[in-house]
Amino acid sequence: MEVHNSVESLRAALAAERRAGKSVGFVPTMGALHAGHISLVERSVSSTDVTVLSIFVNPLQFGKNEDLSRYPRPLEADLKLAEAAGVSHVFAPSVGEMYPGGEPLTSVHVARVTEPMEGALRPGHFDGVSTVVTKLFSIVGECTAFFGEKDWQQLAVVRTMSTDLSLPVTVVGCPIVREPDGLALSSRNVYLDEAQRRAALSLSAALRRGVDLVKSGVRDPRKVSSAVFEVMADEPGVDPQYAEVVDELLQTPEVIDTNCRVLVAAKVGTTRLIDNMGVDL
Ligand code: AMP
Repeated sequence: MEVHNSVESLRAALAAERRAGKSVGFVPTMGALHAGHISLVERSVSSTDVTVLSIFVNPLQFGKNEDLSRYPRPLEADLKLAEAAGVSHVFAPSVGEMYPGGEPLTSVHVARVTEPMEGALRPGHFDGVSTVVTKLFSIVGECTAFFGEKDWQQLAVVRTMSTDLSLPVTVVGCPIVREPDGLALSSRNVYLDEAQRRAALSLSAALRRGVDLVKSGVRDPRKVSSAVFEVMADEPGVDPQYAEVVDELLQTPEVIDTNCRVLVAAKVGTTRLIDNMGVDL
């Protein structure tokens, strides 16, 4: 496994791989790797010739009062996990390497799918995501890129952006990896103490409640979302931010009559968590 800190070094290595006829898989992350990230790597390793994993905590996608400075950065452990999972190239640039002139003057903005939920609560977040992902796609070049359904809205934003800008990237969504008790894996789970971790189970419990209601025939999305919100609100120490039922375009339907997705966000102590589940009708 090669570790690249510069754009130039990664580009040269990938040019050599392509000359040798290799296809490229790409897994962008912010590091603090867990089994969710590794599932994306495994998918890439099994379906492409060489896998690139990027580790970059992107300042552009953090709000002023968010956790940029305390975000975990266990690089040595990440490199071990990446190597064991079969990554060929790690791209771990500094902030200065990615944004040599400071905050870039160019920003990528995706409309509409960025407006509800995360976009409404985290102004500027998706512009930061779209801008860094466009830049990473430009550095990596033609590839298949693997993203987790854990960040459902982000996946929709990246798909929209790649299609709209004809980026030479096939975007593949991969299922959410959970702990046996239902908690979705997240790099932010390390912030939770024991009691908070137990309280955080209310997110997946709330989603299961929502899925059950839809499966049992409830067709009013507002009825479902308020029941989901209540499961979280009933848990001491959990401050729910939203519960939404949306269609494929991330719009709330008048009536649930096709496959839908239930999404939630909540604060557990100072830690903000998101999760979602799909319902196939
Ligand atoms: P992050 O490091 O949080 O930016 O996540 C990097 C990638 O891993 C994103 O595509 C996430 O959606 C994905 N990911 C994070 N957590 C999980 C999980 N529990 N299951 C599957 N994919 C995940």
